[in-house]
Amino acid sequence: MFNRPPVNRRRRSLMQSLLISPLALSGIGMAQAQVSTPATPARISTVYTGDVINGKKVVSSLNTDELEPGKKHLLYFQGVQMSTGQHWYVSVVVAKGARPGKRITLTSGVHGDEMSSVHTVQTVMGQLKPAEMSGTVMAVLDIARPAMESMQRRWPSSGRGFELTDMNREWPGNENGFSAVSRQAGLVFNRLLKPNTDLAIDFHTGTTGLDVPAFHIGDMRIPDVKTMMLLYPVPAIWDNPAYPGVLHNAYIDAGIPSFTPEVGVARRLDLDMTPIFVEGTMNVFKHYGVMPGAIGRTAVDANVYIGKSAVPVLTTHGGFIEVLVKLNAKVTPGQKVAIQRNAFGEVVAEYTSPVNGLVGGLRSDATSEPGNVLLFILADAAPLSGSAPYLE
Ligand SMILES: [Zn+2]
Repeated sequence: MFNRPPVNRRRRSLMQSLLISPLALSGIGMAQAQVSTPATPARISTVYTGDVINGKKVVSSLNTDELEPGKKHLLYFQGVQMSTGQHWYVSVVVAKGARPGKRITLTSGVHGDEMSSVHTVQTVMGQLKPAEMSGTVMAVLDIARPAMESMQRRWPSSGRGFELTDMNREWPGNENGFSAVSRQAGLVFNRLLKPNTDLAIDFHTGTTGLDVPAFHIGDMRIPDVKTMMLLYPVPAIWDNPAYPGVLHNAYIDAGIPSFTPEVGVARRLDLDMTPIFVEGTMNVFKHYGVMPGAIGRTAVDANVYIGKSAVPVLTTHGGFIEVLVKLNAKVTPGQKVAIQRNAFGEVVAEYTSPVNGLVGGLRSDATSEPGNVLLFILADAAPLSGSAPYLE
């Protein structure tokens, strides 16, 4: 979390202008125009590899228009190869409506330790009845397979000895990239996600070591992003495009409105929080005519707080942490939010909020080295001048 990176902001501004007015293209230079030029044709054909795994057919590209309407389809998408020459397959569920309509894509597992996001998507897909639908909902559940296999955030690579890569800084990827994770992102984005999507929701949770409330990350200047985010009964929204290379920004660069819900904490399954996101996703389907039915609770019912920036409070010392505030608590400038002790029990640091805002993230580990995020505060406005942007 950090404050509006200039490069990403420029790209986002470009895409926003494209979404609002195609005529805006005439005013941009070639270098910028290339940023948003799709790398592959808008529509592609389904390619069945001929393999069947656990009864599911394997595809290496997918066009959901070619699937039989009025039913659900369970497929494996053939991803990048491993060192052994086998492939990382990802699980794809397509609920193909009886009638045409919006194509909405749900993803989870871009980070491998975020289980409530997977459960949210599974639950949504389980509730869909294709015979009653107008449109298509595609779910891709386990995109960073090797990260999920070891319940960790990052993708393990062997390119230069063992290393871990955050896949949610790699999008839109590159099928000919210099790492397996870049190629996996490129294959999934070009051959599965982008060609089949009008609107996209990429489900996440907080990071291991950080407790978070139910909230969204997305750029509310994009009308469909704003509409979708406010259809969820979440208590907080970070109105910001966030980091370069995240999946929702790759979608937006391709002209597809997208945002990131954050379904509570990592690793654990939070069955108190997932219903918020299931209800909101169903609201999105109803709003866009994919499913019949009345809209349920929305952000208004949750008395949503919308913050423009996420201000980190970083530890300045190593030691034992005692946090003095709770998630979703309102804080004011100068308010003490945590203290830190050394092994003798002596207080080595006291931490205060630099801004007005709402506690949107809390370190869950009870110790910390210096330089870690202790709290994120969703803030009404940009942080105090002179504070450095935080790049996760
Ligand atoms: Zn994540």
